[in-house]
Amino acid sequence: MLSGLMMNYQLTIDRILEHGNRLYPYKQVKTKLPDGTLHKYSYRDLFRRVKRLCNVLEGLGVQPGDRVGTFAWNNSQHVELYFAVPGAGAVVHTLNIRLFTDQLSYIINHAEDKVIFIDATLLPLIEGLADRIGGVEHFVLFNVPHGGIETKLLGRVHDYETLMAAADEEYTWRVEGENQAMGLCYTSGTTGHPKGSLYSHRSMYLHTVGSCQAAAVGVTENDVVMPVVPQFHAMAWGLPYAAVNVGADLVLPGPHMQPSALAEMIETERVTVAAGVPTIWNGMYHDLKQNPRDISCIRALVVGGSAMPRSLIEAYEKELHVNVVHAWGMTEMSPLGTVSKLLTHHMDRPQDQQWDVKARQGYPISGVEMRIVNEEGRELPWDGTTMGELQVRGPWVARAYYRLDGGDDSFTEDGWFRTGDVVTITEDGFMTITDRTKDLVKSGGEWISSVELENLLMAHPQVLEAAVIAVPHERWQERPLAVVVPTLASEPPRAVELRRFLEPQVASWWLPDDFLLTDQIPKTGTGKFDKKVLRERYART
Ligand code: ADP
Repeated sequence: MLSGLMMNYQLTIDRILEHGNRLYPYKQVKTKLPDGTLHKYSYRDLFRRVKRLCNVLEGLGVQPGDRVGTFAWNNSQHVELYFAVPGAGAVVHTLNIRLFTDQLSYIINHAEDKVIFIDATLLPLIEGLADRIGGVEHFVLFNVPHGGIETKLLGRVHDYETLMAAADEEYTWRVEGENQAMGLCYTSGTTGHPKGSLYSHRSMYLHTVGSCQAAAVGVTENDVVMPVVPQFHAMAWGLPYAAVNVGADLVLPGPHMQPSALAEMIETERVTVAAGVPTIWNGMYHDLKQNPRDISCIRALVVGGSAMPRSLIEAYEKELHVNVVHAWGMTEMSPLGTVSKLLTHHMDRPQDQQWDVKARQGYPISGVEMRIVNEEGRELPWDGTTMGELQVRGPWVARAYYRLDGGDDSFTEDGWFRTGDVVTITEDGFMTITDRTKDLVKSGGEWISSVELENLLMAHPQVLEAAVIAVPHERWQERPLAVVVPTLASEPPRAVELRRFLEPQVASWWLPDDFLLTDQIPKTGTGKFDKKVLRERYART
């Protein structure tokens, strides 16, 4: 092989911050503080504070390779940690604040977090497991109210701003190379024990460049980016890195995650790219009906994590003049895999068909390869109808889980990651999620897509949310059962009406055997319908 003669330039996260600071030092990071006021500073301030924070980390004894936990909402300190921990050669481990204490203590101990940075507004949640995480050497609190705070935490507790004020602003990055680990995220454990994806500088750098492609999320300097997706959910889908990389302003909602607060921030800060799970945008849509605001400044409402119902995409575009970009990804993929943007050959199709395209999970962005396989592992055609398990590979896809004891069948022998999603892919590369393997309803040897039924049901005007699960059935093995939350503004729908609504849209054997009304669907730590809980509640024989 004749080798190329180009530099072996290391793709590391400090390069992104250096670039952002050099070109866009005046761009801003804005955070809504717990008291509701807006905190602002520039990228230059961010850069300086990151360097200080690196010195703070060294002062606490953090060595390259150590894991440093974060337990926080989306805010400026959390962004500082996103850059400083990798800059100091360590691994930023974002802890999901919505997990149960058992899972949290498992994850903290499994990762062996040496220090945990805590948003003081969340302190009681960590205090509740203090006696189970004895290995943590330091706790550092930010957003501490004036007058200080009492805490039951064992070990050494510090105040972030006090440490920062005492730290030096000079610092030489301790990044040793692009393959060094920089981030750690556990999946929320919808499928058993949480499993950790350990990102490298290289994988996160390439993910950043990948997501900034025009054919992907395509963030630019003109944008004002608001990650509503929490920073503890798959690195806020990489948006803090993407924003700094291209010089977009960053707007962070802090603990103010209520629909009306989000809509207000979007309107007043003229947000152009906002990203979150469907539950968030569903809530905001219904809230906007009661309390109208102009959110048409958004040029891309990025939505992923679970399927965005087509009806909601249509409503956002038609009623609120907001372009929806449906995306799919996984924690194991850093997380971006696909986006659904119209291609030239979709442009002359009727509007209705364009929404059909946008409701798909989309095409793989450059850097991600996909294939679908059957149960024997044989590759299946991209014809828009053949369903199979989706497998992926690429430079920002995990090749193993972090310190996983025992075997794991998530990775194939020929180097692909098994997503556990059942999908179809059209000839032109648009993927549609039918289900997660374990959520499919297997009725009489055929598959019924719970996701499709849910999306159809959520288009009913009296339905706020709908989840479909498999319940055991003597003759058909499994049958679908729908659990439905009615909208507050209307009479609850009757089962017979919902059935009639679905009848013209699906095969008769797909129709759920029953429709149960409830006031809330349980959610996982990442805002998805918690079908495990639903199955426990409703699917007993
Ligand atoms: P967890 O496994 O903890 O829920 P992830 O956020 O990594 O964590 O979940 C990834 C899964 O979420 C995917 O495998 C897929 O099932 C689902 N998902 C992500 N985006 C979408 C989407 N746009 N539509 C449907 N499902 C999605």
